[in-house]
Amino acid sequence: MVHFVGAGPGAPDLITVRGKQYLEEADVIIYAGSLVNPKLLEYSKDVCTIHNSAKMTLEEVISVIEHAEAAGKTTVRLHTGDPCLYGAIREQMDILDEKGIAYDSCPGVSSFCGAAGALNLEYTLPDISQSVIITRMEGRTPVPSKESIQSFAAHQATMVVFLSTGMLEELSRRLIEGGYTADTPAAIVYKATWEDEKKLICTVGTLAQTAKENNITKTALMIIGDVVNAAHYERSKLYDPGFTTEFRKASR
Ligand code: SAH
Repeated sequence: MVHFVGAGPGAPDLITVRGKQYLEEADVIIYAGSLVNPKLLEYSKDVCTIHNSAKMTLEEVISVIEHAEAAGKTTVRLHTGDPCLYGAIREQMDILDEKGIAYDSCPGVSSFCGAAGALNLEYTLPDISQSVIITRMEGRTPVPSKESIQSFAAHQATMVVFLSTGMLEELSRRLIEGGYTADTPAAIVYKATWEDEKKLICTVGTLAQTAKENNITKTALMIIGDVVNAAHYERSKLYDPGFTTEFRKASR
């Protein structure tokens, strides 16, 4: 059996209870060493074999899993944050399907949630934005042209940009071309929930300069939108004394 497990954003106590249990039981762990906090590996048992997938190809990862399966062992494939975002899990699962190897998925706390936690931020403020766009600039992995930053910027919804820390001047340019003003609030969160986390409030126009001044070149998320710094927003209806909900009668 193979468990794809979300390691969470960094802090070792932000893995799920289920994910931790899988780590404790695993005979083999293959972890994404570029981003997973190695402290999580301390949950493993002494006899567990550990591989760092940052130094491996897809074929090597599959080969390790196949050997473990042949020996009747349980493997944890540990991905950063939640595996469903930029996790490259599908290509692994498709090969496991071909080989008849069983697997399941255990969610994790994505770094975009870790970053919101670091900033005590609500991405969905009534009247400001009720949507979160999760995207990236293209790197070696292309982004479909219909999903350009400019086209998303036109929505003025909250935007969280992954995998783009080295391209912030271009990101700003595209955000402004798409309709954001240079003074739209933005934030950069570096290594959210890690001990060396940095969180910086800036604007769309100062993203690149802010990262440069703080020596941030990778492992960061950019958060764009008025929710970062909103002074005025509508109160929620859910907790409004004047509204009846399924669980509570209006008091006035
Ligand atoms: N599956 C992961 C994302 C993997 S892509 C998740 O759900 O978070 C890798 C990118 O995620 C990094 O380039 C960075 O943009 C972001 N990232 C991962 N961990 C982070 C953290 N602790 N703080 C800020 N950004 C992080």
